[in-house]
Amino acid sequence: DDEVLSQKSSLLKRRRDVMTSANILFYESSKQELLVDRAEGQYMFDEEGNRYLDLINNVAHVGHCNPKVTAAVTAQMQKQYTNSRYLNATVIEYSEQLLKHFPKELNTVLFCNSGSEATDLALRLSTYFTGREEHICLTGGYHGHVQSALDVSPYKWKGGAVKQPSHVHVVDAPDAFRGKFKGEDAGEKYAAEVDQVIKKREGKISAYIAESILSCAGQIILPPGYLKSVYKHCRENGVLTIADEVQVGFGRVGSKMWAFELQDVVPDIVTLGKPIANGFPMAAIVTKREIAEAYWKSGSQYFNTFGGNAVAAAAGLAVLKEIEDSKLRENALEVGEVFLRGFDELKKKNMLVADVRGFGLFLGIELINSDGKPAKEEAYSVRNRLLEHRIIISVDGPDENILKLKPPMCVTKENAEFVLGKLNSVFDTLK
Ligand code: PMP
Repeated sequence: DDEVLSQKSSLLKRRRDVMTSANILFYESSKQELLVDRAEGQYMFDEEGNRYLDLINNVAHVGHCNPKVTAAVTAQMQKQYTNSRYLNATVIEYSEQLLKHFPKELNTVLFCNSGSEATDLALRLSTYFTGREEHICLTGGYHGHVQSALDVSPYKWKGGAVKQPSHVHVVDAPDAFRGKFKGEDAGEKYAAEVDQVIKKREGKISAYIAESILSCAGQIILPPGYLKSVYKHCRENGVLTIADEVQVGFGRVGSKMWAFELQDVVPDIVTLGKPIANGFPMAAIVTKREIAEAYWKSGSQYFNTFGGNAVAAAAGLAVLKEIEDSKLRENALEVGEVFLRGFDELKKKNMLVADVRGFGLFLGIELINSDGKPAKEEAYSVRNRLLEHRIIISVDGPDENILKLKPPMCVTKENAEFVLGKLNSVFDTLK
């Protein structure tokens, strides 16, 4: 009602007065803007107590305000929250538990506080280890907001202020749906382009970095054999491989704990963030001991004030336990299936729906107009119409034409059925 609207308008004005406009909100207009009062499980509640189904928060991995995570954080905060340079049992226990989920070569953890820091650390380690300074990344890729991460994030180069640096080489994202290579050997062909850059810059490339399913680049599933082939080219030429699992890790894909496993490869460095501690600031990289030890070549020790603090480790432990105890990977598989089947039906009925894809609870719907152009306006219109039904999804991809879903892992089949019903009626009104 009017009172609520004016409260939101006033908050928006105060926000504009003290914060930068570059700090954008999901929904632009004051009429639509969401004021989140509290959140629980897969739901968020606004100031009037209206309940919204959250299908995009992959940070609240084991559910918003998960009571077990909250209890673990609270207990550790009440006990000690000092400095990561004292011996601390919780962070050691966490490292041991985390590494149980990795292939045995990946046996060392370095802690930090955000996905961006993890990217920075991974790139620097690759340089310390190889003595080389150039990197390869993919079109549409995003790996974080610090300078070194922006350097390998073409997704953020649009404005012109962040330019492609001379030490970074971009190869095409292996999009086998809309990209230049399709069919069975698309993976090999895209991988050959990585090899060409490695050969052209012989002895100069330290690392190849990519997400294990491309999120910002448009929910792109890597074609079969792609990473295997890329990693082979990299290894033959002394290039390290970095898998960014910040969005797709921790069982989101259901059948596996890490999305790189879908491609049957073992990266040299894996970056972890967002869901790792269910929203408590924490991130990490997992790598091989000899690569981690190359840190000493920087001439200094690795120290990070907050990285690896006991509270973060306690939160991380609670997350790992909750994934197992509540069988969240199994749930991701089952509910993901319901979504995908429903999306398939939607595609049969709607010309606009060009492709539906995903694994587990990492899903995308690609919208293309009858003239073959990406349907950006329609994508936003679906997103906004769903908000009227109190369902929250996002739009992503370089052309902003992909509907993206990556909900808390506790979302249910009933939630999925509800969403599919509303999605169908929203698409009907678009026709
Ligand atoms: N990598 C990927 C794939 C991401 O999506 C993000 C964040 N959106 C980052 C890295 C950076 O993480 P953070 O925002 O925690 O620094």
